[in-house]
Amino acid sequence: MDWKTLAELLFPHISKTREDYEKAYPPRALAEGARVTRLGPSPTGFIHLGNLYGAFVDERLAHQSGGVFFLRIEDTDEKRQVEGAVEAVVHSLDYFGLRFDEGALLEGETGAYGPYFQRQRAEIYQCFAKWLVEQGKAYPCFCGEEELQEIRGRQEERKATPGYHGSWARCRELTLEEIRARLEAGQPFVLRFLSGGREHGGGSFEIEDGVRGTLSMPENFQDVVLLKQNGIPTYHFAHVVDDHLMRTTHVVRGEEWLSSLPIHVALFEAFGWPLPVYCHTTVLMKMEGENKRKLSKRKDPELSLNYYRRQGYHPAAVREYLLTILNSNYEEWRMANPEAPAEEFPFTTEKMSSSGTLFDLDKLNDVSKDTLVRIPSPELYEFLLEWAREYHGGGEDPRKEETGPEAAALEIRGDLASLFAAEKEKLLRILDMDRTGPKPRKDLVCCSQIFRHISYFFDEHYTPLEGYPETVPPEDLKPILQGYLAAYDPADNQSAWFDKIRSLASELGYAAKPKEYQKNPELYKGHVGDVSTVIRVALMGRRSSPNLWEIQDIMGEAQVRRRMEKALAAL
Ligand code: GLU
Repeated sequence: MDWKTLAELLFPHISKTREDYEKAYPPRALAEGARVTRLGPSPTGFIHLGNLYGAFVDERLAHQSGGVFFLRIEDTDEKRQVEGAVEAVVHSLDYFGLRFDEGALLEGETGAYGPYFQRQRAEIYQCFAKWLVEQGKAYPCFCGEEELQEIRGRQEERKATPGYHGSWARCRELTLEEIRARLEAGQPFVLRFLSGGREHGGGSFEIEDGVRGTLSMPENFQDVVLLKQNGIPTYHFAHVVDDHLMRTTHVVRGEEWLSSLPIHVALFEAFGWPLPVYCHTTVLMKMEGENKRKLSKRKDPELSLNYYRRQGYHPAAVREYLLTILNSNYEEWRMANPEAPAEEFPFTTEKMSSSGTLFDLDKLNDVSKDTLVRIPSPELYEFLLEWAREYHGGGEDPRKEETGPEAAALEIRGDLASLFAAEKEKLLRILDMDRTGPKPRKDLVCCSQIFRHISYFFDEHYTPLEGYPETVPPEDLKPILQGYLAAYDPADNQSAWFDKIRSLASELGYAAKPKEYQKNPELYKGHVGDVSTVIRVALMGRRSSPNLWEIQDIMGEAQVRRRMEKALAAL
């Protein structure tokens, strides 16, 4: 075969050489040990927790080493394009604090290694494809779907390995004249890699994976497609060309790519390029009863990143939690360094799990409680306000079609954004309740939960959740509430206020102190705690709460009286 002529025949429009591109994208001028990583989402608009998990690895590797983290949009698959998806991806990652140094950013493409949209790199891939043809390492294949199916059928019959390889690869045999005739007849073709590997007696190779250690893999013997009929590359080819030219040092990607690693290694070798360090991350799993299973897009709303934004999880909490599942020694480090910024943790891929990472929403919620308790109230208030503006600004909710647990936050009705803006002082005090001091209350998880938790402060959002305690006889409710209302003076300080509750309790036959009751339970109907529980239920529809006096103080006289009167009227 006259490969040079074939290359010219297939790619007459390509005049640049591989050296031109090597010069245009020179090795990066970075310090020794600096890592270059990238995220390569396809623009489907769906970005999930697994992507974020991987993106964190990229981000940490790059920024921890003074390297570069860039965003490349892998838009080679036309069918999977969704309008506005790139913006959605960048916004989503940005929300969780992942900042790119270069690539397809919102403010436009940034960096000297672009374009960062693969479709715009068609000529680059074709140039490298042309070079492979010149070397006798790639060839055009005219087999259509029908022929491929026929080959598959015969392979099945003979129990042969499926695929386009060895003697099955019939277009390997075409002569230059045959190819020329087909091209002239306008027959479409794909470009295939001419694999030097053999199925039987072919070797295997060892490779060091950043997460999994030494892997032993069979060498590739498939003539995989490099360019599709439209001249756009497959993932395999685009990955190799781009990650070489963009000078990626570490390729962090999902384990679903592990099986095609031999193809990528063969391609890097065909070009004579050094391999990047591959880091194949594991899938995220969850417990279902006794069993672990993969998180699924269909069944698990928590796989979607939107879930966390809509529920109003603080990005710092999600980051903190992801680090705990990313590196097995993170929690220990955090205990020893409670106040240190997470960026100081020495992250390594070796400490990552290689057999399925367990994602646990309850654990995230616990981490979130610990994270929120460290966020000062003014900052937390701003966060709530932003969330309300984004998701609860009143009016028609464009996302109301969402279903499943993700829609739970939608049950919150009304214009929270205006409410929060108007009630800033009140909210600041609410958020401050019991959150300072040596034993702060840790019960705030995320915005939707915080709002439900404190909704009793706002008449239009108030729904009583619990009724009066069964230990108090129904005929005592009225006297307790009446007596309380009669003595209520908003000017009382906490101890004056509590003294009044104690006397009310004694008057009605309840012990003024729980201890007294415990000593002689036969003498009393109950104790002061029962009385204050009745007051709590009347005031906020809950049996337990933070400091009752403070809650009343925040509510103010008018609201307290209104609630009490309403509760009395309902008896
Ligand atoms: N576009 C690929 C994906 O979405 C990227 C894989 C990679 O990072 O190499 O899975």
